[in-house]
Amino acid sequence: MRVLVTGGAGFIGSHLCEFLVRQHHDVTVLDELSTGSVANLASCLDAGTVRLVEGSILDRDLVSECVRGKDAVFHLAAAVGVHTIVDSPLQSLRVNLYGTENVVEAAVTHGVPFGIASTSEVYGKNDADGLCEDADRVLGSPLLSRWSYAAAKGLDELVAHTRAAETGTPCVSYRLFNIVGPRQTGRYGMVLPRFVAQALRHEPITVYGDGTQRRCFGSVYDVVPAMVELLGTSAAHGRAVNLGGREETTILGLAEMVKDCTGSTSDIRTVPYDVAYGSGFEDMRRRMPDLTLAHELIGYTARYGLDDIVRSVVGAARRADQTRSKAGAQRVGEAFGHGELVA
Ligand code: UDP
Repeated sequence: MRVLVTGGAGFIGSHLCEFLVRQHHDVTVLDELSTGSVANLASCLDAGTVRLVEGSILDRDLVSECVRGKDAVFHLAAAVGVHTIVDSPLQSLRVNLYGTENVVEAAVTHGVPFGIASTSEVYGKNDADGLCEDADRVLGSPLLSRWSYAAAKGLDELVAHTRAAETGTPCVSYRLFNIVGPRQTGRYGMVLPRFVAQALRHEPITVYGDGTQRRCFGSVYDVVPAMVELLGTSAAHGRAVNLGGREETTILGLAEMVKDCTGSTSDIRTVPYDVAYGSGFEDMRRRMPDLTLAHELIGYTARYGLDDIVRSVVGAARRADQTRSKAGAQRVGEAFGHGELVA
């Protein structure tokens, strides 16, 4: 299959590309390299197995050109991360609304089946014991920028499914619940890579609020194959499907787990929300998926528990640190004319 992955240089997108390449698909990535990076795709680009088109999903003609002739589109490009959304609310809204509309229009115009990444944020403050796909949304004030991501993603789903139904184009939306794994960066707010980086540097691990808020983290290695399988499953077309993990933790519990796993001497420090995100920030107390629909459609079960996930993220972060320090030493060596490692 010829496949387009928007946002393919991002964290989940790059894992999706690697998975598609292993399945022998012909993969094109459209990415503006804002939060994503070429380094995430290094193995595919070096091997020539992925073609990278650098550009924005706001460029309607470019999007249409990239979608034309493809057999499937996975739309993952978005402004992501709580810090990104809170710091640039308007630009984030534009990308998430107009960019998605461009991708959806291109897909239905060219008759290409498409999957779009949505989010557990659409449920907002609904803290039910297992959110199923038709659960109510409980969002805060539209004037709080935190909710703009949930608002945009909810509208994206509506646009995607409405246009898909009107045109008979297969479409699935994936409601992703706190997906984590190697390569995720903490730069835009995501908690696990931030905790791991802090722990490895023996700096304070910063828990926002009192740390009793709960999340259920899912592995990228579980979610990526499920995204592909769902798009190939006709019973999934027209559906929004929860994807994520099975084990719930408090954020304080996560900090302790990371500290144990790294053997770090870091303190665990609580930081008030208004210091972390600015005043008026609202957090979700709890977010727990009901994964029954994904199980019924494709037999989805999360294979990786939280322990496995934390260990794999810590291992990958350690390897990335080693690679960076070797590269730094090499640069020092070259600067001194040695052209070899000095360490
Ligand atoms: N969080 C934290 N410390 C950080 C970053 C995030 O305690 O350095 C908290 C955040 O307030 C939230 C949880 O961790 O309660 C998950 O945050 P993330 O941004 O990863 O995902 P969210 O569930 O908010 O979309």
